Amino acid sequence: MSIKNKPPSRFRPLGNILLILGGLFLLANIFLPQLFGPSIPQVPYSLFIHQIDDGDVSRVYVGQNEIRYQLKGEGENQYGQIFQTTPIFDLELPKRLEAQGVEFAAAPPAKNGWIGSLLSWVIPPLIFVGIWQFFLNRSAGGGPAGALSFTKSKAKVYVEGDATKVTFNDVAGVEEAKTELEEIVEFLKSPQRYIQIGARIPKGVLLVGPPGTGKTLLAKAVAGEAGVPFFSISGSEFVELFVGAGAARVRDLFEQAKKQAPCIVFIDELDAIGKSRASGGFMGGNDEREQTLNQLLTEMDGFAAAGATVIVLAATNRPETLDPALLRPGRFDRQVLVDRPDLGGRLKILEIYAQKVKLGNDVALKEIATRTPGFAGADLANLVNEAALLAARNKRETVAQADFKEAIERVVAGLEKKSRVLSDKEKTIVAYHEVGHALVGAMMPGGGKVAKISIVPRGMAALGYTLQMPTEDRFLLSESEIRDQVATLLGGRAAEEVVFGSITTGAANDLQRATDLAERMVTTYGMSKILGPLAYEKGQQNNFIGDGMMNPRRMVSDDTAKAIDNEVKEIVEGGHQQALAILRQNRELLETIAQKILETEVIEGEELQNLLTQVKPVDKVAVPA
Ligand code: ADP
Ligand code: MG
Ligand code: ZN
Repeated sequence: MSIKNKPPSRFRPLGNILLILGGLFLLANIFLPQLFGPSIPQVPYSLFIHQIDDGDVSRVYVGQNEIRYQLKGEGENQYGQIFQTTPIFDLELPKRLEAQGVEFAAAPPAKNGWIGSLLSWVIPPLIFVGIWQFFLNRSAGGGPAGALSFTKSKAKVYVEGDATKVTFNDVAGVEEAKTELEEIVEFLKSPQRYIQIGARIPKGVLLVGPPGTGKTLLAKAVAGEAGVPFFSISGSEFVELFVGAGAARVRDLFEQAKKQAPCIVFIDELDAIGKSRASGGFMGGNDEREQTLNQLLTEMDGFAAAGATVIVLAATNRPETLDPALLRPGRFDRQVLVDRPDLGGRLKILEIYAQKVKLGNDVALKEIATRTPGFAGADLANLVNEAALLAARNKRETVAQADFKEAIERVVAGLEKKSRVLSDKEKTIVAYHEVGHALVGAMMPGGGKVAKISIVPRGMAALGYTLQMPTEDRFLLSESEIRDQVATLLGGRAAEEVVFGSITTGAANDLQRATDLAERMVTTYGMSKILGPLAYEKGQQNNFIGDGMMNPRRMVSDDTAKAIDNEVKEIVEGGHQQALAILRQNRELLETIAQKILETEVIEGEELQNLLTQVKPVDKVAVPA
């Protein structure tokens, strides 16, 4: 806290006195009526309503926290007994009262005489002003702007020539992302060239990837390379106390940016404001977030018209939660994947950070890179620093390989909780599993050509992956191609069975997809001989390309339902047997490729194709009729 060196403020004492006064008065207002007022019987609201409808009520005062009302008197007496009840939110009440000709008014009768009512009108605003002043003074020390800039953007601006200038050389291991962003740098450097030709400059680029992979760093590097100002703000900063403040900030941020165009606006943690509105909170949703999001969309649509070259970069690690409106053309229509680095990438990142410390002669960065699969750039930067700290603690002049090894253990222990770093054993299982997919996929090419195998833990879901590339755009799939896909999906599990004789949970997603495919063959595409060319699902079904939701089943007899279940099971089991047969036949190749990938983590390109041509064919396992 920096209270000590705050300049004296003339508002401050006033603020405090008012606060205390206000506090006293609030207390008095709450307790006095209870202490000194007449005791009025309390009744339930429902009784009150009945009495109105029965015409028993003569007049009503509707207050903030209570309703007092008087019954009609007996005989000549106009007014009878007084009751009170607690108001509920009831828009019907005035109509009801009017229908019975009841006299009613909004304010309760003054209980404390005119001073009381005067005070109760005057004091609350004063309290508010007092609180306001109080906070004003507290925050005035921080910045020159004070409270009036309350809604002003807190965007930090880094301008070209900053000592902190970041370039692409500072970012390693994310080559694909860099290549994609180089184009953005060109746009920013010479927008005229693109505008003249009539090309539309992209407005929004979404950097997608797990935390610590260098998204923020890349955004800064784009600004650094292009030599343009960099405005940055984080989505979580938008989550403000007052509705409307977030939207005002967005407006202000873009106002500033437009003045300095060409420039970059970087929105970190976009998911904090860009959550899908459909999946948003319940009970009125989150007005604040929605307003902020709408303002962002408006601004993004607006600045192109103004002819300013402002490129909005945003980062998120949860793209699936984003509102689809954000991803439409003209908004964040470009997505750049910033993934965890592979072996080569990790080595380059280590080299960058190792330059900053004194290394001993025995340090082999390659070995460190090999031992750190799943580490993101930030983890590696942290690792080098930890190692240097260890060396310094042991009063050594340089950092030794042993320091790195110990640091890895420390970082891993920390990481184990928040993300996945595979143990050696798990890594081995993943390797065989993925190679299993690849070998079956090579034999059964209905799912496309196997283009890449990786055991670098990627994204949020996969421990490793096998990439199949369709050889051409496909709109129709044949039955045998779907069977190929089912077999390929089961290749991972089959490899685990063949090699380890046991299975892990790693195939859950594969099984899900294989079962879905098989079910659709039977119930949607009419590919089952037993069940015939009938659609057992209702409504329009997406074609095989979309993984649309399953539609509700038609009414089917128990027998049919049983037959469907059997067919689905046979198809999946058929794929399973096929995969097992292929892998048993190619047991040695499975071993060779798995050992290779354990070393390099990624196999692709020509190397992979050469290996896959060695697959020995097997007879097709009999397809269940
Ligand atoms: P993100 O925004 O993706 O969460 P950051 O860009 O904030 O990650 O990364 C945090 C720090 O980690 C960076 O400042 C940098 O020091 C280091 N870092 C992360 N990724 C890389 C990378 N690919 N190359 C070099 N340093 C990196
Ligand atoms: Mg970041
Ligand atoms: Zn798998």
